[in-house]
Amino acid sequence: MIRLNNVSKTVSSGSEKLTILHSVYLTIPRGQFVAVVGPSGSGKSTLLSLVAGLDYPTTGDIRLDGEYITQMKEDELARLRGAKVGFIFQSFHLIPSLTAYENILVPMEIAGLPKARERAQALLEEVGLRERGHHYPSQLSGGEQQRVAIARAFSNAPTILLADEPTGNLDSKNGAHVFELLVKLNREHDTTLLLVTHDHALANQADRVISLNEGRIVEDREKGRGGGGERESGRAGERVSERGSEDGRAREQASERT
Ligand code: ADP
Ligand code: MG
Repeated sequence: MIRLNNVSKTVSSGSEKLTILHSVYLTIPRGQFVAVVGPSGSGKSTLLSLVAGLDYPTTGDIRLDGEYITQMKEDELARLRGAKVGFIFQSFHLIPSLTAYENILVPMEIAGLPKARERAQALLEEVGLRERGHHYPSQLSGGEQQRVAIARAFSNAPTILLADEPTGNLDSKNGAHVFELLVKLNREHDTTLLLVTHDHALANQADRVISLNEGRIVEDREKGRGGGGERESGRAGERVSERGSEDGRAREQASERT
């Protein structure tokens, strides 16, 4: 559950003050897949970095699973990020001197996660790179590097995954592969996914599409039953009926209170 209440961001550029995000109100329930679209400079990356707690808003507050991250100090934020948040960047951000396997393993070891070796190997297999674990990033294609980054992002079993144009540096075939993997992992792990993309065909596969323009949400479109593409509509329907179950309703009521 992500909740933004009157979140804005103003930066100083020279003597001028520039508001790059204006009074955003947003609630994203657990497990929802939200695509964020909008022209370059509309505030998409700013929104993601605020939700990740990588930056503080100028006004308003942000809650992740009920915790007010806007009131946390750096070290508390780092702990929360380590426990809850995964981040995937357009440019992969792998460590070049570590193999694919080590790129997944090392952050887990630093975080002191149990069974790190087994889990790193399992994640490598989950993203379809079992045979490539001993390769360095420079020996992998862009799509493969991004799959390593995805495995790494899932290593702390995050409840929230933030992806900033994860397919932006990939050709359409690799981009589609990476995108499908993200969607699959999002559903299997019941992770909330906030994904920035320029690709409207990809965005339309999300449960919900938020459009930003000049730092404002100008459209917030949630898919109802049967909305969207043929293949996705069936899955969206399933998710709606899951939500309609006793458990789903209880969860929704509980989340309303937070
Ligand atoms: P997007 O990801 O949608 O392309 P960004 O969130 O990166 O947009 O940026 C939104 C606007 O804010 C852009 O015009 C950008 O130049 C500006 N901006 C972002 N961060 C800063 C900063 N620290 N100082 C000044 N301007 C910034
Ligand atoms: Mg951006």
